[in-house]
Amino acid sequence: MQFAVIGNPIHHSLSPILHNSAFKSLGVVGFYSRYLLENPENFSSLKNLHLTGANITVPFKEIAFKSCNEVFGIAQEIGAVNTLVFEKEKILGYNTDALGFYQCIESLNPKNTLIIGAGGSAKALACILKAKGISTTILNRSQSRLESFIALEFHTATFENFTPKECFDLIINTTPAGLTNDSLPLDSTLLVPLLDSTKFAFDLVYGRETPFLTLAKSLNIPHSDGKQMLINQAILAFEIFMESQKIPINKTILRQSMQTAL
Ligand code: NDP
Repeated sequence: MQFAVIGNPIHHSLSPILHNSAFKSLGVVGFYSRYLLENPENFSSLKNLHLTGANITVPFKEIAFKSCNEVFGIAQEIGAVNTLVFEKEKILGYNTDALGFYQCIESLNPKNTLIIGAGGSAKALACILKAKGISTTILNRSQSRLESFIALEFHTATFENFTPKECFDLIINTTPAGLTNDSLPLDSTLLVPLLDSTKFAFDLVYGRETPFLTLAKSLNIPHSDGKQMLINQAILAFEIFMESQKIPINKTILRQSMQTAL
């Protein structure tokens, strides 16, 4: 069985380490690689790679959704998939980012959250938080990407028109700000009071401490980066892959192998 993570860029992806570690620990014969897709118009040609399944990353999660014959669970509302199963003539789609994130914050039991950013991952997070009955506000620098959140009846604001009327239990940075530079996702005059009054700060970026997390740390706010979310979504995707092939696996070994792989 061959699997791959598909995106552009893709060289940085840690998914092959996670999935190949699981194959090895479980004694399942399978291999997981990276695939650079340069032209999104070639998305349907992925079938020719004869993969059993794939994970999809930036910027192809929405186009992958459109290429699916069937989409399952919360992915239908999100409109983006990160996990595909190739089944004869059919492509089946799932979103494991949403539940992978929720597993990270479930024990915090937040009543309300603020999401900074309005891209694909923000949509996944917002939809699962809504499904769990948690009030969610989306804050973005531009209006255009907020429109699809407004259609789903979320509270939204741009940086310019945001006037916070409440404290948020959880604040999540879903922007790539701080990934490759030293910038905050939001001007510090707005961000400092927001962070200072929250119970937890979460950044989807992993592999480096972003200015957002450094600021949370300096204010003594409990915080986390996106590494555990990455591991959780990979565990959930691996389970989908194995179920699709009717291969029973020991889930404790799966979790242990991915948890210690990075
Ligand atoms: P998108 O490109 O879909 O969305 C990015 C959002 O961030 C947009 O709303 C954009 O605003 C905003 N934005 C971009 N740059 C800045 C900036 N400098 N300041 C303020 N706002 C900014 O990205 P994704 O949602 O797909 O991914 C976002 C991040 O999450 C990435 O860093 C990705 O690596 C990470 N991620 C981590 C995962 C994990 O498992 N840990 C899983 C998925 C993603 P605008 O609309 O104005 O352009």
